[in-house]
Amino acid sequence: MINTKPSIFDLDFKDVFEFIKNEKEPDYRAEQIWKGLYHNLYSDAESYSNLPRRLINKLSERYSFSNLTPLEQINAKDGQTIKFLFQLSDQKTIETVLMYYNKRCSLCISTQVGCAMGCTFCATGQMGFLRHLSSGEIVEQVIFFARYLSKNRQILTNIVLMGMGEPFHNYRATIEAIDRLNDQSGFNFGARRFTISTVGIIPMIKKFALENRQINLAVSLHAADNDLRSALIPVNRKYPLQELMDVCKFYVSTTKRRISFEWALIDGINDDIKQAELLTQLISGLLCHVNLILLNPTNKSHHKPSDGKKAVAFKNFLIQKGVPCSIRLRRGIEIRAGCGQLAARR
Ligand code: SF4
Repeated sequence: MINTKPSIFDLDFKDVFEFIKNEKEPDYRAEQIWKGLYHNLYSDAESYSNLPRRLINKLSERYSFSNLTPLEQINAKDGQTIKFLFQLSDQKTIETVLMYYNKRCSLCISTQVGCAMGCTFCATGQMGFLRHLSSGEIVEQVIFFARYLSKNRQILTNIVLMGMGEPFHNYRATIEAIDRLNDQSGFNFGARRFTISTVGIIPMIKKFALENRQINLAVSLHAADNDLRSALIPVNRKYPLQELMDVCKFYVSTTKRRISFEWALIDGINDDIKQAELLTQLISGLLCHVNLILLNPTNKSHHKPSDGKKAVAFKNFLIQKGVPCSIRLRRGIEIRAGCGQLAARR
């Protein structure tokens, strides 16, 4: 059934305040509603035992409290990765992934249904672009997992915007969602615990740099020359490497923050020392960290992951050249929850 009510998670505090004003209720009611949503993690209007009945009825008449319907939960065998398939109010589907690392609980959230960037190695790119998520749909993925974890007295420690979609193609909703979750009087999730991953949308990186936020930025490079990068990431034709590196330098000099570069190692494609050498030239002198990850398999791509020895050789070369670098753990591969594997399919 299509939900026609607006989502309460699409509201900022000022919108809640306006609702309260229109209802001729005292100002402090706005704070009560906000705290209920983001502090007590209420999932319906009936949970507000501190509000008058008339206001509870108004809230549930006006707003939907639940716009994500969990269709399927898949747990990896080791129990360290959990993927949820959600249905949105227009029946479209997205996926969100929770990963446990020792004491950390990291959540990988989606910002679009599908993706327009068409990266050849990525299952989301292979499905094409269906639509942007609203800020409320981005927020609600986080709130869903905060409730899920609270049952075991656990909390989220990191949120990465690396799920389905290109966050900077849906810039406004993405930043609004982060701001809402960052709000100190509500969910209060520190800006430094968010990481936005982009494939390199230059104007948005510039805008993001000028906003000078504390949020971490990761740029997916995957290749250090334009021909190869355009073959893997078609948007490189519009935003070529040298211009991308210029804006990355602008980001670092403006924000004084380190930038991460993501590199999926693909067997025989981008895992030789020549690419490593080009990469060191490209990022030389930049405050950065390179994250290597063995490519995760997808149905429609013939690309294969590099073998472990090649990954280590690539990493050692970068380290020798003074580039901070690590090989990231691959997680949730058998449940298709790894980087580039999300396709929102049953
Ligand atoms: S890798 Fe990211 S930007 Fe590229 S198609 Fe996949 S989701 Fe989109």
